Amino acid sequence: MPYQWADHQVFPAGEGGVLLGVDQGSLFLIDRETRELLARGQGSAPPDPAGLCAAEREIMEGLLDARILVSAGSGKRPAPEIDPALIPLTTMVLEVAQDCNLRCRYCYAEGGSYGGPARLLEPALARRAVERLVEESGDRERLTLILFGGEPLLNLAAVEAAAQAAQALSRDGGKRIFLSLTTNGTLLTPEAVALLKRHRIAVSVSMDGPAELHDANRVGVDGEGSYARIVSRLSGLFEAGSAPVAARVTLVPQQWSRVEEVFDHLLGLGFQEVGISPASPIHRALLADAEQEERLFESFAALAARFVREASLGRVLPFGNLIDLLARLHVGQTKSVACGAGLGYLAVDAGGSFYLCHRLTGEEEFRVGTLESGPDPRSIGSALKRLGAGREELCAGCWARTLCGGGCHYENHLRENRLGLPAGSSCGFIRRWLQLGIETYAELRAGGAEPLLQMLEKRAKC
Ligand code: SF4
Ligand code: SF4
Repeated sequence: MPYQWADHQVFPAGEGGVLLGVDQGSLFLIDRETRELLARGQGSAPPDPAGLCAAEREIMEGLLDARILVSAGSGKRPAPEIDPALIPLTTMVLEVAQDCNLRCRYCYAEGGSYGGPARLLEPALARRAVERLVEESGDRERLTLILFGGEPLLNLAAVEAAAQAAQALSRDGGKRIFLSLTTNGTLLTPEAVALLKRHRIAVSVSMDGPAELHDANRVGVDGEGSYARIVSRLSGLFEAGSAPVAARVTLVPQQWSRVEEVFDHLLGLGFQEVGISPASPIHRALLADAEQEERLFESFAALAARFVREASLGRVLPFGNLIDLLARLHVGQTKSVACGAGLGYLAVDAGGSFYLCHRLTGEEEFRVGTLESGPDPRSIGSALKRLGAGREELCAGCWARTLCGGGCHYENHLRENRLGLPAGSSCGFIRRWLQLGIETYAELRAGGAEPLLQMLEKRAKC
């Protein structure tokens, strides 16, 4: 039977390489002979088995099993159409406060209010939101409620109401609702910490590293840096010890050469995991140049190398970005869209409206229902169509498509519709990051690291 190559990509790893089967998101460590045979067939039909020696035929059989070689004529599978009506809601971001006591210079939420008037979610609406999450969750048992803002600790009454409702509905409704909250850390008073502990709410604190770096952007209404205020609050949170506390870092391009310093500083303060995001380019001054992008990649690569060294000693370097990527690679998770926005995941604003995602809050074209009427699958479907327009064409020939899913909707919308940048302006970095993850994963596999792989499996299920 004649065969053809399925979409695949080979990356360096050891003496051979690591082979990615693009459609399945499958990864294989390969030896030098396999890599050479694959290189010989690049861009052409697979070699005729009659002209191969026994060892090469064996390699070809292995590639057939791995579905890197497929029957001729089995064309690319079109991405399946996803019907939002068929996907239960499992994650809700609840904006308990569309208000904030800080004015971070890179804030995509325009000082926490998302461009509208500052307001707090009524406790009764917070309870209704949790009920709605349960009503829309179908047969799913594990649900996640993310208490968000602005600054959610400005509204302890709504946090309390949502947490109580989640506990009552978990108890009576056969669901498990996992609660988390993202805070800027300035309002972690003993009262707030006691509430978080009482309801076992997992906490992430937004911090950007040492005082000088943090205070460059995370400032109060008066323009004063917030570092000292947050640090004075952290010990209370860490001592409460209810759950591991993660730091969420946002860095502007001028700071990207200092990622490792930021990472180490935050671990030194007592955080148990650190996730690092480049600031969204809400205006052109936040767009990075090629050199800054290179610095960011180098920093991530240095952390990945440290991750491998730590793994060889039986330890996990708590670099959240990499752990999440490795977990997905480990279980072979592929995606046809970048995230669950509108497909199992929705945000609710402080007025009780559903939005496709928290970052798109306040944009009327992405408002997709209300707590009273529920999320509207047709509005979700058309919002997703608008956001995905032209993406299929852009991504069809990209080896990263089943790992990337087309990139973050909000980032694409921001870059292409608001800043007028061409589609795909961030793809180079996305592909480099994914390749780094694949190569790191291959190194870990080659070195054994069994307990780490078990941890990745558990993480992928979260
Ligand atoms: S703490 Fe968050 S919501 Fe408040 S200004 Fe800073 S980034 Fe915006
Ligand atoms: S990297 Fe770019 S082209 Fe490739 S899948 Fe992601 S968005 Fe599409």
